[in-house]
Amino acid sequence: MAETMEKGTISINTENIFPIIKKFLYSDHEIFLRELVSNAVDATQKLRKLVSMGEFSGELGDLRIEVSFDKKKKTITVSDKGIGMTADEIKKYINQIAFSGATEFIEKFKDKADAKDIIGKFGLGFYSAFMVSDKVDVLSRSYNSAEAARWTCDGSTEFTLTADQKDDRGTDVILHINKDSEEFLDEFRIKGILEKYCKFLPVEIKFGTREEREEDGVDKDNKPKYKTVTKDRIINNPSPLWAKSPTDLTDEDYLAFYKELYPFGEPPLFWIHLNVDYPFTLTGVLYFPKVKNDFELNRNKIQLYSRQVFITDEVKDVVPDFLMLLHGVLDSPDIPLNVSRSYLQSDSNVKKISQHITKKVADKLQEMFKKDRADFEKKWDDINIFVKYGMISDEKFYDRAKEFALFKTTQNKYYTFDDYRNYIKDLQTDKDGNVIHLYTSDAGKQHSFIETANLKAYDVLILDGVLDSHFINTLEQKLDKVQFRRVDSDTIDKLIVKDEKVESVMSQADQDKLKGLFEKAINNPAMSVTIDSHAPDHLPVTVTMSEWARRMKDMAKTGGGMYGFMGSMPDQYSVSVNSNHAMASKIIAETEESRQVELAKQAFDLALLSQGLLTGADLTSFIKRSVQLASQ
Ligand code: ADP
Repeated sequence: MAETMEKGTISINTENIFPIIKKFLYSDHEIFLRELVSNAVDATQKLRKLVSMGEFSGELGDLRIEVSFDKKKKTITVSDKGIGMTADEIKKYINQIAFSGATEFIEKFKDKADAKDIIGKFGLGFYSAFMVSDKVDVLSRSYNSAEAARWTCDGSTEFTLTADQKDDRGTDVILHINKDSEEFLDEFRIKGILEKYCKFLPVEIKFGTREEREEDGVDKDNKPKYKTVTKDRIINNPSPLWAKSPTDLTDEDYLAFYKELYPFGEPPLFWIHLNVDYPFTLTGVLYFPKVKNDFELNRNKIQLYSRQVFITDEVKDVVPDFLMLLHGVLDSPDIPLNVSRSYLQSDSNVKKISQHITKKVADKLQEMFKKDRADFEKKWDDINIFVKYGMISDEKFYDRAKEFALFKTTQNKYYTFDDYRNYIKDLQTDKDGNVIHLYTSDAGKQHSFIETANLKAYDVLILDGVLDSHFINTLEQKLDKVQFRRVDSDTIDKLIVKDEKVESVMSQADQDKLKGLFEKAINNPAMSVTIDSHAPDHLPVTVTMSEWARRMKDMAKTGGGMYGFMGSMPDQYSVSVNSNHAMASKIIAETEESRQVELAKQAFDLALLSQGLLTGADLTSFIKRSVQLASQ
């Protein structure tokens, strides 16, 4: 038995710091493993550094870190073959919580090499072990000592330090798991935690073994034989793609890494490799996935790492909101960890990182646009949602994106904003000089209106995405003398100067009578009826909603808080009856009023039907009435 070298009290300011740590420091107890394995990685990296600086010339051997557990003894052990600690170093590094061993290490070696990448940034890292342990042993042998030392502490401020034996260099941290934490003494639980936090740590981590089928010669028929072999199970990929230089990587590498991150995802459209080392350190790869209108499914897919240690997939405050739909990995030791949300948002590095990412995304899109316009157009349907979201929410991004953002028309053509304005301005400028951009939000339902517009040689844009009503609003604010009108809003004829007026063939008295008949047939105060004179081949009845009211309702639907009140307003429609259509004169010519009302109702229902507005009981009675009318 080794003699106790020392018993002592850990000098910390508050006697009661341990219970506080246990309770409040980390809500996620499982991160103790992340902290201990990160320390083991740091210790290994420090040793590698010493080798590269010529400070250590012994055998490195296998540097693998091993995590193991013993269900009977109720222990979890993290073993490394890193730099190790002498008894004095244990006292210094482990006992003095506030004292960072890494700082000392850097002090010592700061003139020899750039040691900044070995600074531990996990604060009270080691002590998180007490969240799950009754007692913790640290058995360690320094790289430059034959002696080992064992430190034992039960979570109070008392510790013992004894001389001990250890065959090889490095540190074993042995946790004696407490009653409340026995859930962690489970193979799948530990494996799960390691895979979550340690998947890309830069030193191989072994946990248990796994069985593998291997070829084993051939049988008498010359067919291959197999045997089952047991191999070490390595949890991590120590050199993930983002840590490599972009010049060494092919498209296949990026696609393969995407698969590693999201095994079930569809291949991404393209990606950006981030690589900054001044004024902050940031590496990472951001992928543009194929996003349709399913927003929520695609959010929270970016993982945040700090020197290859997984931190979180809540990157809300680091990545601008509109880029939350991207996928991939960000790695930065300059993002402060374990701090509150509000602190994070005001952190200057975090702000710079967020701005940098926005700029890189704009650069990439612009480059793609310039390099291969046809290919950019092909991708537009998939990426327009990012670009529009960005333009709505970020001024700087808007200014970049207005050069390459596209409009898509019902003819499947793509134009930049400027090109489109020039293309339509001759025909579609109203008397106040506004260039009227007609659009459809549903080319199927609004088909008859698109056809009418096209007949007049007007062009129609497709703006049918979930964000488009907001996007249109942004554009109207930003673009000078540009206004948007949905093809079925009010009547497009009113908006365009060049449209000649058509005289009504119906007397004023008949027009008034017609109005009354329609009002009676519709019997709904939310529908206001007007009698208008259009060409005889124009639709007999059109039902429209004012552009403004409809847009407000759309925005309320897609969550714009300030428009919320609009959601509860009843729909207001205008019903325009074409007095020059044969149907109008037929209704007037009927002798019986009940018959007139029936025909008016039929014409009105047809208009609703053509816009997909006729549903439920109204639709059923329309069908019944049609059958009746056809059999008369
Ligand atoms: P941090 O890692 O942030 O410095 P920790 O409390 O996790 O804080 O660890 C304190 C110090 O203890 C470390 O800086 C390091 O010097 C030392 N240490 C912890 N674990 C090990 C280990 N496995 N091998 C060598 N030294 C270690």
